[in-house]
Amino acid sequence: MPPLADDDNPCIGCGAPCCQYFRVSFYQGELDCYPGGFVPTALTQALPPFRACMNGTEVGKGRCVALGTDGLCQIYEHRPSVCRDFPNRLADGQLNPECVKLKAWYQDKRASSQS
Ligand code: SF4
Ligand code: SF4
Repeated sequence: MPPLADDDNPCIGCGAPCCQYFRVSFYQGELDCYPGGFVPTALTQALPPFRACMNGTEVGKGRCVALGTDGLCQIYEHRPSVCRDFPNRLADGQLNPECVKLKAWYQDKRASSQS
């Protein structure tokens, strides 16, 4: 997910559509209100009985509250597991096809908002 300091990182300049499309949900034990948790609880909504999601992504095609205007995750070190597990490249080094689809969606969204 959003960017690392690596010129070959496809996340750079992507616009992080992954953070603006999915409902970003995860097990509630990752919240910092639980022992060993790390995701800021204040930035989340409860999804009973045992899950939570990032604010802004409750219904999908929203925008994660932690996505900065610079396109970077503002809680990168504390992002939930679902964000850590979404690969921008596959094992063979190719760009994740989901990223390609998401970028197309994001470009359409931007074009619509500008017309
Ligand atoms: S859509 Fe893919 S390339 Fe873009 S920020 Fe997300 S993981 Fe990175
Ligand atoms: S927590 Fe960070 S990486 Fe995860 S969806 Fe939000 S902005 Fe993206």
